[in-house]
Formats: sequence, structure tokens, C-alpha cells
Amino acid sequence: MIYPIVVYGSPILRQVAKEITPEEYPNLKTLIADMFDTMHKSDGMGLAAPQIGKSIRIFVVDATSLAEEDPSLGDFKKAFINPKLQVIGNESVVMNEGCLSIPKIREDVDRRIKVKITYYDENWNFFEEAYEGLKARVIQHEYDHLEGVLFIDKINPLRRKLLKGKLNDITHGKVDNIPYKIKIMK
Ligand SMILES: [Zn+2]
Repeated sequence: MIYPIVVYGSPILRQVAKEITPEEYPNLKTLIADMFDTMHKSDGMGLAAPQIGKSIRIFVVDATSLAEEDPSLGDFKKAFINPKLQVIGNESVVMNEGCLSIPKIREDVDRRIKVKITYYDENWNFFEEAYEGLKARVIQHEYDHLEGVLFIDKINPLRRKLLKGKLNDITHGKVDNIPYKIKIMK
């Protein structure tokens, strides 16, 4: 099933999402498969559950399409359930970012280079891993969604001011030429 993407202006994107238990989500694998399908359909590299209207602590990533340029991304296709993120060190780097929930806006965002993360996969296996570079960036962006934080919160305030009109359009569903359906949740 392909979900519509919940866009900027929907309060759910500002909520802190809740952890889940295996008992509450016996069909977790279906939900994860649907999240992957929805992300692929919309050409995203990451998708967090609040973006499909579910305020729960799950996100999926898939950067394997970039493996030709960067072979280290060849296995970067995963689901993160109940993740806990820790940034490592103070080194950061600025890179251009976008978000399916904020269509057609891309801005430079400063993020830490290295992170550590614990999480469960869709089979409820526990992992503790370290990531850096693009992987760490995607993870931080998606993790922020579970905390109710969006990438535009992290940009230069002047740039944010300049985006006000475009953001207002998104809030009212005025977005053309994107390969996916959007939804505004009141
Ligand atoms: Zn996003």
C-alpha cells in the first residue's frame, strides 16, 4: 500500500512520536514494507512514520540507488524501530537537504558527521551501530521527524523567513509536479 505523504503544516509532524511494542503491531512487517513502497514511489531516501500519519517511532532508509557512486551505500536499506540516537564528537558538515514533507524546498543544513544508534529491526532484533557521512545525515534527518523536528528548523533564520511564502503554499496543498500524493492532517 502506498500512503500519501503528510506535509508541512500538519500538527503530527510536530509531535514527539511514541515507542511501539510487538504486541501493539503484530503486522509490523506489512507496515514496514508499505513504508518502503511509499518511500520508493516518492523517490525519497528516508521516510519516518509521522510522514504517513502515524505518530510512532519507526523510520526507513534506502540509499542503495547511490551505490554506484558510493559503494559503501550498497547495504544502506533498513528499518529503524524505537531508535535511540547519540551524536559523536563535534565535527559537523553542511550539505543540501530536502524532505518529502516539504516538497520542492532544498536548503543547506549543518549536521554532525558521526552518530551512534540503537534500534530494533522489523524482526525485533536489537542493534547498536555507528554511522558517518551521508548515512549519519539521513539517520539524523529521519530521527528528527520522530522528535517533531524538521530540517527547516535548522537553517539560517533569514533563509527561513524567505521561505515563508512557499511554506504557506505547502500548508494549503499548493504544490505542483511532484511524483506522489500529499495529505494535510488537521
Ligand atoms: Zn524529512
